[in-house]
Amino acid sequence: MARVFNFSAGPAVLPVPVLQRARDEMIEHGNSGMSVMEMSHRSKAYMAIIGNAMALLRELLEIPDDYEVLLLQGGASLQFSMIPMNLLSDPGKQSVDYVLTGSWAEKAYGEAKKQGVEVRIAATSKAVNYSRIPTQAELTLNPDAAYVHITSNNTIFGTEYYYTPETNGIPLVADISSNVLSRPMEISKYGLLYAGAQKNLGPSGVTVVIVRKDLLGRRSGLPQMLDYKVHAENDSMFNTPPTYAIYILGLVLQWTKEQGGVAAMEQRNIRKAAKLYAAIDNSSFYQCPTEPVSRSRMNVPFTLADAALDATFLAEAKEAGLVTLAGHRSVGGMRASIYNAMPEEGVEALVQFMAEFERVHG
Ligand SMILES: *Cc1c(COP(=O)(O)O)cnc(C)c1O
Repeated sequence: MARVFNFSAGPAVLPVPVLQRARDEMIEHGNSGMSVMEMSHRSKAYMAIIGNAMALLRELLEIPDDYEVLLLQGGASLQFSMIPMNLLSDPGKQSVDYVLTGSWAEKAYGEAKKQGVEVRIAATSKAVNYSRIPTQAELTLNPDAAYVHITSNNTIFGTEYYYTPETNGIPLVADISSNVLSRPMEISKYGLLYAGAQKNLGPSGVTVVIVRKDLLGRRSGLPQMLDYKVHAENDSMFNTPPTYAIYILGLVLQWTKEQGGVAAMEQRNIRKAAKLYAAIDNSSFYQCPTEPVSRSRMNVPFTLADAALDATFLAEAKEAGLVTLAGHRSVGGMRASIYNAMPEEGVEALVQFMAEFERVHG
């Protein structure tokens, strides 16, 4: 069976060289006599694997020394709770700002509210069905907020920030799950960034948290597993980390480096997204619901002129080896996720298929 072009939003396509290497090392990693999955996380062989992944993250994302990198479990979703737990010293007396740009932002907002803190909406684009990112001028920030939370790429609605909000010294917190590693980000402008791995970084099961050191230890009495400081003090080895997911993360980072790093990825992602958006915009059969200034380079939603053709589109696309193109269940239509590991040929094949489908059914 041949590999397909997988446009899944996550878990998503991985680079084939990464899968091949994992296959080759499945039974025995190096000269260890065992699979990575069977190693003690405290063994020398495994310490080298996690150390390599950490070092590559720091190198590729240019993470300054005054930031900790944590490899945690629980997905980006657990961060929705851990962030307010850790960054507030006294939730009952504090206030935080959230910018609502889609479903994940709403979920982060909802979890923060459960922490007993006042949660303000600094801006929302819900009125336009999250079709664009609010501008800096539209943000009404509270100068006393403990932090400001944004979602840098909205996986479901297909929008992305092309500016870093200015928060005048208040820590900026960003969910970068679906565009981490897709373009350079100025880490020093943020207090904390977090990403579940299964979009651009590797398999599900590991979550990357990048946090400025001075933000650690604000809150005492947290359960140990939910305390960033505990994980930082233990180099993400407080308990057994997701060892195999971290190993694959390391391979993906190595592959990214070999491709030329994050800047090269950005150039490729710009080309891929431009091709797909042009195909949509140059046709009257396909439509994109998002505003051009906010369009995501990672997740491209589009609809057909006649929604009754959706099922046929998906079935014929599958025949052509193009899979997982259905839009999120909350939005409908189609969505093509074109993360770093989606080759340019995959986007070209999709564009060709779309033109042919329009010719036949349009
Ligand atoms: C996928 C996704 C999440 C949820 O990630 P989990 O690891 O499943 O918890 C959160 N935020 C964004 C932006 C996502 O794309």
